[in-house]
Amino acid sequence: MESEDRLKRLQAYMAEEGVDLAAFGPTANMRYLLDFTPHPDERLCLLLVAQEAVCMVVPSLNAEQTAAHTHGLELIAWKDADGPMQALRQALDGLPEARCLAVDGAMRADFLLHLQEAASPQEAQPAGPMLARLRQYKSAAEVEAAARAAVQADQAMQAAADACQPGVTEAQVAWAAEEAFRLDGAEEVCFTLVASGPNGAYPHHHSGDRLLQDGDAIIIDIGASLRGYKSDITRMVFLGRPPSEFMQAYEAVLEANKRARAAVRPGVTAHQVDRVARQTLEAAGYAEYFVHRTGHGLGLEVHEPPWIMAGNEQVLEEGMIFSVEPGVYFPGRFGVRIEDIMVVTESGGRNLTGFDHQLVIKR
Ligand code: ZN
Ligand code: ZN
Repeated sequence: MESEDRLKRLQAYMAEEGVDLAAFGPTANMRYLLDFTPHPDERLCLLLVAQEAVCMVVPSLNAEQTAAHTHGLELIAWKDADGPMQALRQALDGLPEARCLAVDGAMRADFLLHLQEAASPQEAQPAGPMLARLRQYKSAAEVEAAARAAVQADQAMQAAADACQPGVTEAQVAWAAEEAFRLDGAEEVCFTLVASGPNGAYPHHHSGDRLLQDGDAIIIDIGASLRGYKSDITRMVFLGRPPSEFMQAYEAVLEANKRARAAVRPGVTAHQVDRVARQTLEAAGYAEYFVHRTGHGLGLEVHEPPWIMAGNEQVLEEGMIFSVEPGVYFPGRFGVRIEDIMVVTESGGRNLTGFDHQLVIKR
């Protein structure tokens, strides 16, 4: 089973780095390690991994379901009326002393406080780098899962583009994408960002009640979770006749997107892919308007390593999945971003995003 192998590999990294105990909440990390997470809420739920033992502290109401999914993993359940501390102490008593603790950066802060009280480690560090060494390399099954999620995002993008017309709000366009995702079986819609006209100049605009109007450039950036794996795509719609100033920016961003995608292959660094996109936009005179990194890894989370950015000398390897999303932003006027999801193959890069790159023009 893939998840048993993942736990063993994590334990090997822990031994290498002198980490006695790694603790995970019900996050993407736990899902990766167990192929399952109980429902996350305020109740303490911790997967405790020692170099040669694993156990889990779980709220009793989720214990049976967790047992059914975790194949013999030792579970220590606690009831609401008792609180989690006794169960947590009991779990730690069964493990070697946790002098050096690695913690899940995405788990709740109060879980960490409980853990520190019960285990009093001498040292604590983020578990993220060890998990990144595992999670960055997608198996064939993971690549297929991400590819299916990308196909679903293509369909949701079509629904959103179809919904764009004068008089409709950003939120209504966002809902069209959300509905398409859910009807196709997404278990969660992660974000539906619709930024019209001047709102497009905010890279992370929150879709609101602005009415679309003739002359609007509309950035649509959407993503969802399909069987755990995330999608992320950005395309643009224009209402009416796009002015040449806009088209120039669009063509430059598209060229940056294409060139950066063409640069993807094993052996190049994340920095180099970013550089290709940045140089293209610099040559077109847009250097100062490209205000973010070129991309981010994608998998069980929307943002995860590898980070495709200047200064990251990490070498890209087969199985890595990440976005290529150059963009330019003109305050008060408009923005342009075009985003695809690439997977590094044996000899190059494969684009999981299938949606056409041409501007969608609606007159
Ligand atoms: Zn995106
Ligand atoms: Zn993205």
